[in-house]
Amino acid sequence: KLASREFHPDDTIIEVKGVRIGGDDLVVMGGPCAVETPEQIDEIARLVKEAGGQVLRGGAFKPRTGPYSFQGIGVEGLKWMKEAGDKYGLLTITEVMAPEFVDICAEYADIMQVGTRNMQNFDLLRKLGTIQNPVLLKRGFSSTYDEWLNAAEYILAGGNPNVMLCERGIRTFETYTRNTFDLAAVPVIQELSHLPVIADPSHATGRRELVERMTKASVAAGANGLIIEMHTDPDNSATGDGVQSLFPDQFANLLKELEQLAPLC
Ligand code: PEP
Ligand code: MN
Repeated sequence: KLASREFHPDDTIIEVKGVRIGGDDLVVMGGPCAVETPEQIDEIARLVKEAGGQVLRGGAFKPRTGPYSFQGIGVEGLKWMKEAGDKYGLLTITEVMAPEFVDICAEYADIMQVGTRNMQNFDLLRKLGTIQNPVLLKRGFSSTYDEWLNAAEYILAGGNPNVMLCERGIRTFETYTRNTFDLAAVPVIQELSHLPVIADPSHATGRRELVERMTKASVAAGANGLIIEMHTDPDNSATGDGVQSLFPDQFANLLKELEQLAPLC
């Protein structure tokens, strides 16, 4: 299998505009769950850059559990995010939910995110195999390591070698946390595969007060990077995932602490 260590013994390094993802340096992706307004994404981009992050995250297309929840700004949001990324010198990552939106997302964002609910959307994975933009493939919340690696295999087999895997928590009997953060996935996947592993302590815990410690735990477990939600007004104006989003000062302090553990990209 193309994703396996046997096939490719050395760690894969994905280089995006000078940022090397997958080596010893940590990549930090930060930003809101959703792009909301041009001012919001501009301000958060500034804060991500100031804190030392390299990638601006933000969803323009949101996979909401219910159809009446905010579904995202759409293409306009992609444009606002690109503007903010260019202005502050940040890469951008955004979720793509359907094959027919891959081209437009790839036009505006550097990294394509496949959400947990779409990990086995095989038509989407196949389409992502036809482009060269890096893909961050989140683990399905009820998927085994083997199913996850097979999902990556679809993208690799299509001809796109730039895949990173993201542990974002799985569904278990425990409901106190939003998901159960399977930190062992980090060393296990690094043993089985050469692909970079990114941790998402925000969705994995669903609780702001747990994000900082679980971020550090992710680094201790060997993660190549992090994706963390941050918002300027998470408790009032965030359209989603406010309870798990860090305040800007928490995000900045966390990155300072991370720098003690490993160099940032
Ligand atoms: C997100 O990153 O905002 C998101 C929807 O993530 P997940 O697919 O892990 O739920
Ligand atoms: Mn979110």
